[in-house]
Amino acid sequence: MNNSSTQTITAYIGLGSNLASPVTQIKSARNAIAATAGIKELAFSSLYHSSPMGPQDQPDYVNAVMAIETGLSPTDLLHCLQRIEHAQGRIRRGERWGARTLDLDILVYGDQCIELPELTVPHSGVSERSFVLYPLYELAPQLIIPGQGNIADLIANCPLAGLKRLD
Ligand code: ATP
Ligand code: CA
Ligand code: CA
Ligand code: CA
Repeated sequence: MNNSSTQTITAYIGLGSNLASPVTQIKSARNAIAATAGIKELAFSSLYHSSPMGPQDQPDYVNAVMAIETGLSPTDLLHCLQRIEHAQGRIRRGERWGARTLDLDILVYGDQCIELPELTVPHSGVSERSFVLYPLYELAPQLIIPGQGNIADLIANCPLAGLKRLD
């Protein structure tokens, strides 16, 4: 058997951007995530365009999902992602769902359900957001989202809501 320091799990990261060249932001974030020690990229979805949630006076988003293999704990992974957001100019203005250069959410972390003050996994929006479910389905059509069911069933109940794949 491997010892615990070499065990890895598969996790899914949601990426979003609607400021400062979103496609470039997403590509840079992908590179930064893959370059992180303890993270290996497994797959990356197509890019999608989505309408903003919350405040409507902001540009449309570009979204994608990345599958990774990682030996990082969930909170270490969150902190790595927050550093990458910060490095790419994410400014937190306090407005919920406001415009941002980069948003990185941990959607799923193996089969774990996590409830910590700073971290809820699976991500709280995962089952009702088309810009999360459709790219996730592209990567993992058989995925069971812990506590929420299989992705095909979730998608069947999730309208596209203007989501478009970029080609
Ligand atoms: P939403 O979480 O609804 O998609 P958001 O991404 O705009 O909204 P943020 O301002 O980026 O929200 O994050 C707010 C807080 O959410 C972060 O400080 C982080 O601690 C917490 N958080 C809880 N669960 C997660 C998760 N699974 N992935 C990323 N952040 C999370
Ligand atoms: Ca790496
Ligand atoms: Ca988010
Ligand atoms: Ca976030």
